[in-house]
Amino acid sequence: MAERLGLFGGTFDPIHVGHLVTAVNVRHALALDRVLLVVANDPWQKAALPVSRAADRLAMVEAAVADVEGLEASALEIDRGGVSYTADTLTELGDQRPDAELFVILGSDAAATLDTWERVDEVCSRATLVVVTRPGVGSLAAPPRWDHLVVEVPRLEVSSTDLRARVVDGRPLDWLVTDPVVRLIRTLGLYHEPQMSSQRSATP
Ligand code: ATP
Repeated sequence: MAERLGLFGGTFDPIHVGHLVTAVNVRHALALDRVLLVVANDPWQKAALPVSRAADRLAMVEAAVADVEGLEASALEIDRGGVSYTADTLTELGDQRPDAELFVILGSDAAATLDTWERVDEVCSRATLVVVTRPGVGSLAAPPRWDHLVVEVPRLEVSSTDLRARVVDGRPLDWLVTDPVVRLIRTLGLYHEPQMSSQRSATP
């Protein structure tokens, strides 16, 4: 049977429990074999914002999913380098795994920006879109123009933006990110500067 493969892309700066709860619940709801958490090398949606080194963001995702069945960190976009477009990632995955059935998982905020995506029609033809909403919101949060599935997951009000601010202010990260990620943030010395300079690069 064809592998059912989910792609959950993000900046993951840092990865938090909202991401993890989403990934495991969509995997369960759609009986996906695996969900790849694809770490953006250069997230074009955040072009004006500082972003941590891709290698550090990948290390945090690897640490977060190490013991979680069916979730995997993916360095595909980092290895490709440059600006990260989902259309290119799907092409690459399709070449690697021609038999796989692909699902692109989006939070409702990401889904709302879909019409700005590079080659969005290609994304929709290569994969099934899965829009995640909080229970009770249903299809209201979904993008009207493209075919998609809606999966309800418990919505946790946590964002990477708030977590970075917490480090600056010295507030706790515990339970909002997993313990291995808390330790990595400390070891790598991430997020201490409120206006850290951008550390993107054309290469990983
Ligand atoms: P930032 O605060 O820096 O913008 P973020 O917390 O939104 O970051 P991203 O890495 O930009 O995290 O998001 C990757 C994906 O995860 C997007 O599809 C986004 O909609 C989704 N997402 C982000 N936060 C949550 C959450 N709390 N629950 C469910 N999905 C989320």
